[in-house]
Amino acid sequence: MFKPFEICSIRPPTENQSLTFRLTRNCYWNKCTFCPVYKQGARFARRTLDDVRQDIYSAKHLNDRLDELNADSDFSSLMSSQSADEYQNAQKLIEQILDIQGPDADLAGHSIPANDDDPITNWFMQWFRDVPTISDSINHLLAWRMGGRKTCFLGDADSLILKPEFIREVISTVKNVFPSVHRFTVYGRTATAARFRLLSELKEFRKAGLNRVHFGIESGSDTVLREVRKGETKDDHIRGCLKVKDAGLSVSDYVMPGLGGQKYSDEHAKETADVVSQTAPDFVRIRTLQVFPNTELSKQIKNGTFKEASEEQVVAEIRQMIEQIDTQTQIISDSATNLLQINGRLPEDRSAMLNVIESYLALSPTRKKMFSLQARMASFEGQYGGFSRDIYEELAPYIHNGDLDIDSIPESAVDALILLLRSRLMP
Ligand code: SF4
Repeated sequence: MFKPFEICSIRPPTENQSLTFRLTRNCYWNKCTFCPVYKQGARFARRTLDDVRQDIYSAKHLNDRLDELNADSDFSSLMSSQSADEYQNAQKLIEQILDIQGPDADLAGHSIPANDDDPITNWFMQWFRDVPTISDSINHLLAWRMGGRKTCFLGDADSLILKPEFIREVISTVKNVFPSVHRFTVYGRTATAARFRLLSELKEFRKAGLNRVHFGIESGSDTVLREVRKGETKDDHIRGCLKVKDAGLSVSDYVMPGLGGQKYSDEHAKETADVVSQTAPDFVRIRTLQVFPNTELSKQIKNGTFKEASEEQVVAEIRQMIEQIDTQTQIISDSATNLLQINGRLPEDRSAMLNVIESYLALSPTRKKMFSLQARMASFEGQYGGFSRDIYEELAPYIHNGDLDIDSIPESAVDALILLLRSRLMP
């Protein structure tokens, strides 16, 4: 009997090819005004060690079967390649299990229902698997196998709330069962690290085998953090990041340009740069604000209490951060929400990153829009491997002889297309 195991649908992009196990479900805080991920009825829950161990063994059972199927594959054939066979064997295993155990084996899984008729929310929620199917589990293992089988993410939103002994048991079980895994990461909240975890406990996490904590710090401005109900302060960010670094763990910070809106744009950039300068995280990852329907922030936009920063303002915020961060760190743009690819090490690559920004800012307003459209289309294709039907239908009038004639799209249609594309990109 094969069983699905719970996976972390929400994880950093760097963990897309990681094996994931859920130690808790969803987010106990769940109040951030911009955050759509757990707002559609997904409830926070702690899981027991037995439940998590059971998931790890269920993953092993499926993975062993994939190994057996791959051992029987003939990689010497010219028509075959290891990755194609891996893919085919994974799909074969799904069919075999459904044949033996019945289609109900897959019906156990479901997405959280979106609870409304909003197409964007429905689009987003279909990727969120609160209870996974056999197919989800096998495809998840497939991605991990194709990615080199080296990394593991332990979710969901704040695994630092767990006791070090719990993390130790989980990591030790994963290492025993999947010996190729050598990097373990979690999402954490800086408030948990700063206020609730002793340095000695964080050192225990490190000793247990945890390597990195991803913090969604979003902003260093207390005003912005309060406005968006982050439940954390600049002081939490600084103390939390420094404590985690002191414990020997790697720190990866997500920052969110645009989160201060027009009103706090300058303060947001300045204070965020200051937090980074004071804490020198190993990585600063840029994830631009994308406003999702049904969030508190979208209501604030409708009632006029939040005015979104323009794309140009957001780029100017990033420029301010790059100019003002006064420490060594790695800047990474690995979110599809970003307009520009700003990547490099500070301080050495500062000029190169600023040049990318200045080149965009020097474009005429019309060229900026076209640039944005092309960048969002490329992100969409990169994320989903092609266009969805609704996006294709919007583009169809401008496709001539099979090629998209981007210059034939009237400026009036460009804004709507950019909005549509952005609304479908996974942050
Ligand atoms: S803490 Fe993270 S997951 Fe929880 S509501 Fe805020 S942004 Fe969303």
